[in-house]
Amino acid sequence: MEQISLFSLLPKSAKRSPLFPNSFMYRGVCITLIRKPYRRVMQLGVEMKGGVQISCARRTTLKEIKSFLAEHWKWIQKELSERQKIKRRHPVKKFRTGESFLFQGKSLKLQYKHIRIRQNEPFIEKGFYIKNKNLIYGWNRLEDLGTHFLRQELRSFYEKKGKLLLQEAVAVFSSRMQLVPKAVRIGSQRSLWGSCSSEGNISLNWRLVVAPPEVINYVVIHELAHLKYLDHSSAFWSLVARFCPDYKKQEAWLGHNTYTPDFLLSPSE
Ligand SMILES: [Zn+2]
Repeated sequence: MEQISLFSLLPKSAKRSPLFPNSFMYRGVCITLIRKPYRRVMQLGVEMKGGVQISCARRTTLKEIKSFLAEHWKWIQKELSERQKIKRRHPVKKFRTGESFLFQGKSLKLQYKHIRIRQNEPFIEKGFYIKNKNLIYGWNRLEDLGTHFLRQELRSFYEKKGKLLLQEAVAVFSSRMQLVPKAVRIGSQRSLWGSCSSEGNISLNWRLVVAPPEVINYVVIHELAHLKYLDHSSAFWSLVARFCPDYKKQEAWLGHNTYTPDFLLSPSE
């Protein structure tokens, strides 16, 4: 959610109405109000779902909110259409046979394999696995597999693979660069691919598993380089370039793919 903050000084006459709505429609867009007792700043956020959120003081009047909306309408429309474009590019996965899923920069096709567990049957893989250019789900249940269940399964499969790939990359590059982090945390912060703290800990996002291996390597190199330079100075970039000469290309991939791993989120996230 992108946000802009603007100071809105309330006129002394602003009265609090007991019948204030928490949400209302404005020019066809659903506006949700978040009232905060001491907020002096009106804050505007455009949601991925297509609505607009405004956090404002408890005393802010509807008239003030509407004029605030009118003032920023152009920006709101631009942001909403941007969200629409992103949504079209990343439709919600339906987990149908043949649907494609990005993994390490490659598009895999989903397939299901029904396994019958019989006595003496040799070991057959259950759950998600990758074979050739297919993402296969092996299952032995008779009931329908719901998308919610499959999304959870897929998420833990990607998480496991992502953690493994990142740990390997950290091992390889920390020995090559002679830079060893105190601790490595692999999480799934939505808006961050990686970070490095002044204490020498690095954090990486396992959702990078959707990215090509060169991109994963670049993020690891970038964060390890921060162990030496905790800034983006020219010394920092030349250290990065020594281990990743085409880092600008990898940066561009990250810039264009902020929402690419979002299929790993549940619809409410
Ligand atoms: Zn950095």
